[in-house]
Amino acid sequence: MVVLDGVNKHFGALHVLRDIDLTVARGEVVVVIGPSGSGKSTLCRTINRLETIDSGAISIDGRPLPQEGRELARLRADVGMVFQSFNLFAHKTVLENVTLGQIKVRKSPRETAERTARSLLDRVGVSGQADKYPAQLSGGQQQRVAIARALAMAPKVMLFDEPTSALDPEMINEVLEVMRQLARDGMTMVVVTHEMGFARSAAHRVVFMADGRIVEQAPPDRFFSSPRSERAKDFLSKIL
Ligand code: ATP
Ligand code: MG
Repeated sequence: MVVLDGVNKHFGALHVLRDIDLTVARGEVVVVIGPSGSGKSTLCRTINRLETIDSGAISIDGRPLPQEGRELARLRADVGMVFQSFNLFAHKTVLENVTLGQIKVRKSPRETAERTARSLLDRVGVSGQADKYPAQLSGGQQQRVAIARALAMAPKVMLFDEPTSALDPEMINEVLEVMRQLARDGMTMVVVTHEMGFARSAAHRVVFMADGRIVEQAPPDRFFSSPRSERAKDFLSKIL
């Protein structure tokens, strides 16, 4: 579904992604962990072309990542992304947030878009909030709306970059639960998170990054019980 082949990325002199080879199968949930600055966010951002790459290749569902124009808009619709900061449109209601992309990018009729939006808001547990503005919701509710908005585009893969890091502790689980359900429903997911409980329970594979490289990857059981690299052992000793 998602294939990165020999991807390199620099920011000026800084080599942030080094020869990244990564294949995410359809329905697979890959959790990406690693120290701050290791390139996790940049990796996510290259997959939906928020960042360009210097060499290598990326394809989604067998098609090379488009570089511009209409193709790029379609790619962004195929690759849903949820960020740490909720990034909802502040001056649109919850319902409008979830219908806008469907109408503008997917060209759905408004009535269809609203039906889809209401069913998704129900699925993420915020159906009562459709007519509110983002600022009137809790952080956890906003993040669940952000997930619904991404899902409304019927994406082929969902990217999550620390979706719970900006949330108060009591709201983290309600967002993780929506993500767990999505994983159970077979969504292809790439998730950057510090929530090791989520990694253990929902990931098919943990990818550990350090200094712009994939240092180690394994199923969560194996990775957490017997990490092989010194970098991973060191990282886990600090966070677990
Ligand atoms: P964190 O866990 O703190 O979110 P990360 O693993 O997501 O870290 P990235 O945000 O991908 O790390 O950053 C990788 C490196 O690239 C860091 O050294 C960062 O400072 C640098 N970097 C990221 N974005 C830019 C940018 N737009 N311009 C210059 N340098 C950048
Ligand atoms: Mg990051």
